[in-house]
Amino acid sequence: MTDDDAGVIRSVGEGDAPGTPDAGSDDHVITPGFVDAHLHLPQFDSIGQDSMPLLEWLNTVIFPAEIRWADGAYARSMTRRVATTLLSHGTTTVAAYATAHAEGTQSALHALAEAGIGGAVGQVLMDQHAPFELCFPVDEQIREAKLLDAFARGLDAFPRLEFSLNPRFAISCSPALLRACGQLAADLSANRERPVMIQTHLSETLDECDLAVRLHSGPGLMTPADYASIYDRNGLLTPRTLLAHCVHLSASERSLIRAAGSVIAHCPTANTFLQSGTMPRRDLVRAGVPLALGSDIAGGPEISMPRVARAMIDAAKVISGPAAARDVHDDPRLPSPARAWWQITGGNAEATGFVHAGRLAPGLSADLVLVRPELHSQWLTRGDPLGTLLYSWDERWIAGVMALGRWRYLRA
Ligand SMILES: [Zn+2]
Repeated sequence: MTDDDAGVIRSVGEGDAPGTPDAGSDDHVITPGFVDAHLHLPQFDSIGQDSMPLLEWLNTVIFPAEIRWADGAYARSMTRRVATTLLSHGTTTVAAYATAHAEGTQSALHALAEAGIGGAVGQVLMDQHAPFELCFPVDEQIREAKLLDAFARGLDAFPRLEFSLNPRFAISCSPALLRACGQLAADLSANRERPVMIQTHLSETLDECDLAVRLHSGPGLMTPADYASIYDRNGLLTPRTLLAHCVHLSASERSLIRAAGSVIAHCPTANTFLQSGTMPRRDLVRAGVPLALGSDIAGGPEISMPRVARAMIDAAKVISGPAAARDVHDDPRLPSPARAWWQITGGNAEATGFVHAGRLAPGLSADLVLVRPELHSQWLTRGDPLGTLLYSWDERWIAGVMALGRWRYLRA
């Protein structure tokens, strides 16, 4: 049962609840709405532009798409369309990137709030190694980020939907921009219950790692020990920092991230699509680094979080080598389907600090997906039901998606 005014779950139980609308019968399953821990809102029309490594793909495919967000009205209509797509796939919470444009980012925050989607959206901070249309002076970006943070905090959707600081990655950000961003993160987080979220990319490809270290060395700068140190020395590794990819980390970088309490957003579909490498999940789990899971649209081509979860298991299998005698449910090398399902719901919510999402529990946001799986009649009682659900997953089974207590998508 939900409390319609606040959009939060009042109680959770089994069987019919008098006075509540019918939401399926015995052949339906209810799961918490999915949480996508890494995606780019302006890139949804760029899915599937293949055959390029990361840096070439950014220049050829992505930057031209993001330049279009200079038009705030375009950004708003595109975000509305993206929100409809996300909801129809069961995603109700996102950690998202907008573009370098303040007006476009504000439009995106507004459109996601209207659609009932929670999470965080950040203006992409960048001032070098990109077209001039996406690069802005440091002072201007910092001023805009402060205004956007205040705008987001004034929305009815806050704190379920918040503003984040998104320095794109060390290649697109000058030392001065990263320094100012770290200072702003500290200023915005002072006296707040929850620090401001920081989203960025780290160690997706080897070319990127080399270039990042080169760009942040040189006159007046101490050569960084490695890529992660660039963020660390600018105050950008915090317990609310979400680092996308981390495919090629050294042992010392893993230790640095663990000590900072930052979270890695694993994006297996993107790492395969752009042939960036396979993230060594087992090493990161062993090192005690918290993990989240993201689609990374459009680096990743897959919107559906159950499919991204499956790709996480596939990537772990590829990197762990040939099968040996093992228990897949206990082996940290191989996340089980249940673990994968938890990851795209409660696990991602926990790792990102989206405390309102990811679970069906009183007081949390009423975000849920009503599913009617078309499976053999014993699927719930035989074998591993979540394994069957995950590996057979079909979007057409989604009968309805509720976000903040309202049905936002109902299958025709
Ligand atoms: Zn990304």
